[in-house]
Amino acid sequence: MFDKKEYRKNYYLKNRDKVLAKSKEWYQGNKEHKAAYDLEYYKNNKERVDERSRKYRNDHPEISLECLRRARAKFPEKDRARHILNYQIEKGEITKSCSCIIEGCDRTDLHGHHNDYNKPLEVDWVCAKHHHEIHTL
Ligand SMILES: [Zn+2]
Ligand SMILES: [Zn+2]
Repeated sequence: MFDKKEYRKNYYLKNRDKVLAKSKEWYQGNKEHKAAYDLEYYKNNKERVDERSRKYRNDHPEISLECLRRARAKFPEKDRARHILNYQIEKGEITKSCSCIIEGCDRTDLHGHHNDYNKPLEVDWVCAKHHHEIHTL
């Protein structure tokens, strides 16, 4: 006896494979298109994408280090400023402040924040939390 249900199931499975194979094939042939598409999407939705990644960073502070590393590669002058500052601190030319410049904040994990990377020795001392906030404003 003809099993309609079984037939439908088999038809579905057969076509499912076909559909999957087809989309896989398309993907293989359009990998570059996909990258271009992503770039185009990013360009057109830059603000939305940036906003989303900012939110993501806030929700996942543990990832900010990796972001920092990437940002550093993008902004060598920033890296240079930090390097000079650290060197002067080690030499004792500059003393790390002992409190965050944000009023009422008592955190002690202080970072030197550069307002101008061309003046590597002029920094505001802020705690890690407020430093993160300054950069995500
Ligand atoms: Zn900073
Ligand atoms: Zn603070």
